[in-house]
Amino acid sequence: MSEPRLEVDLEAFRHNVRLLSELVAPARTMLAVKANAYGHGLVPLAKAALESGADSLAVLEVPAALAVRRAGITAQVFAWLHGPETDFVSAIEFDVDLGVSALWQLELIVAAPKGKPARIHLKVDTGLHRNGASPAEWPALVSAAVAAEHEGSVVVEALWSHLADASPEDDAEALARFHEAVAVAAALGCRPPLLHLAASSAGIREPEARLGLVRFGIAAYGISPFDDQSGARLGLRPVMAMRAPVSSLLDGVATVGLGSADGIQVPAIGKAQVAIRGRRYPILALDVDTLTVDVAHSNIAVGDDVTIFGPGDAGEATAEEWAAWGETIGDEIVARASERLPRVYLG
Ligand SMILES: *Cc1c(COP(=O)(O)O)cnc(C)c1O
Repeated sequence: MSEPRLEVDLEAFRHNVRLLSELVAPARTMLAVKANAYGHGLVPLAKAALESGADSLAVLEVPAALAVRRAGITAQVFAWLHGPETDFVSAIEFDVDLGVSALWQLELIVAAPKGKPARIHLKVDTGLHRNGASPAEWPALVSAAVAAEHEGSVVVEALWSHLADASPEDDAEALARFHEAVAVAAALGCRPPLLHLAASSAGIREPEARLGLVRFGIAAYGISPFDDQSGARLGLRPVMAMRAPVSSLLDGVATVGLGSADGIQVPAIGKAQVAIRGRRYPILALDVDTLTVDVAHSNIAVGDDVTIFGPGDAGEATAEEWAAWGETIGDEIVARASERLPRVYLG
């Protein structure tokens, strides 16, 4: 009998990365592999991305960037979420590009003992208010970076920001603010060769936001960043499938060894359906580690494979459909898939 598992279709992922990188060229593609590659597995997805059109990787934090280096990956890796304990010494030693949002981060980077300059990307906030220097803080951050560059302590590789995945109008306003910040930096003598701003949503629908590089995340995993357009419509292929066998069967009720602890969304229950032998059946109840399915009047047998979500081409729901059932976003469906489940890599 098969086991509860996550199947990760690397061929689908490569297809998506190729499609997206061709869409935005000549802008470069940076692939976001944060959160364990949105639950898919950091190293296999990082390697597949670099084989198929991405030329750099984005993680949240320095430890994940160092894990990428330990896997033998030499491509550009960008990390931008730092705390006072962040190991900047190792980050610089292993050529991790560092996002810098605040003076205190720059000061720690400048003070870190190092044999070469740190590669930094200065971040300005353009309305998301998550991190990034405010327009008021920006000139001081830029001036300090220019001074540190003159001393040979850092190289400013890029100026960047992040969009809120809001409306095209909000994105246009954020883009205008970004260009203002770029002009402020230029007036202070900071003119790095690279500007980046867009993630999946703006990368796909707003050519003027692509600038030098797009940081693609969710779209590369085959999930649409838009509510009103499916990944399939965009030509994307879902990458993750969650499956497990029917472990027991009693009076038309099948039990499956997957539950809420595996990342299955409680709010989706009542609407959610799973697929067995190409047909959909409703979930009756969800427990921490099991769920039950109404398979009355079917020929389902113990050991039959149950697909919770998958590519959507054999009757099953996609992660996007689960997101709609759970009133959440597709990121939450795949990235919450439990670490406990083995990842089986296909293609
Ligand atoms: C997560 C993230 C991305 C990728 O976003 P998607 O919407 O998943 O494409 C890009 N840049 C930053 C800073 C992020 O945090």
